[in-house]
Amino acid sequence: MSKRYKRTKKRKLNRRRVGLVLIIIILIIIACIYNSVKPKEQTAETIAYSGPTKINKCIVIDAGHGGEEEPGCIFGNVLEKNIDLQIAKKLQKKLSQEYTQVIMTRTEDVNVYLNERARIANRNNADIFVSIHQNALEDDTVTNGIETWYNPEKDTVSKILAENIQENVISATDAEDLGTKESTGLIVITKTEMASCLIETGFLSSTKERQKLVTDTYQDKIVEGICNGIKAYFEEIDSLENKDTSDLSSNIV
Ligand SMILES: [Zn+2]
Repeated sequence: MSKRYKRTKKRKLNRRRVGLVLIIIILIIIACIYNSVKPKEQTAETIAYSGPTKINKCIVIDAGHGGEEEPGCIFGNVLEKNIDLQIAKKLQKKLSQEYTQVIMTRTEDVNVYLNERARIANRNNADIFVSIHQNALEDDTVTNGIETWYNPEKDTVSKILAENIQENVISATDAEDLGTKESTGLIVITKTEMASCLIETGFLSSTKERQKLVTDTYQDKIVEGICNGIKAYFEEIDSLENKDTSDLSSNIV
């Protein structure tokens, strides 16, 4: 092999190398441009923190009755346990968007003992407990309206919860306002160790009210009212606590 031939071969090899390096550089530039233009992928972290901040409260929703042996009141083929559960489920869905913890005492057609319902709320250190029921009167197809029960001997906050819920449900539904009522005999609002109330969202014995209670539209109004009432309750409690603190600090001064 002559020297000249060797040199030509070497030059050819060098040109190839330069070409290869150029191609690599061009590829790197293209990759850099593509990376800077394409949208950033969402990591698990950004997904976890992308939603609105929820209010740190635990709410227990109690759908009344349940199971074969505890249907509640029955009128015109409408069973109380089913209406209670339908409203409770809607309530859980709506409240879960705003609060960190929303617990149901039952999510299916099963009977849960009254003491156990209260225990569920106590075990979870719930901030509030709301029980959903329907009313009824024998031989009376006319009486209608909404009422909310609380135990006045248990604490001072249950009354505030009951009043806020009652007021807001009435303005959301335009139903007859039967007001708040006191009872020391209802297990679920007595054995629960937090603000608690039991709302009777209508009379299944009333032909007119029963027809409304089975519809999604009316149940949504009830749910909206209860949610507004819960919000108003937490706000009232917050302002009472702030007032207490400022009273204390003014005493110190
Ligand atoms: Zn009931």
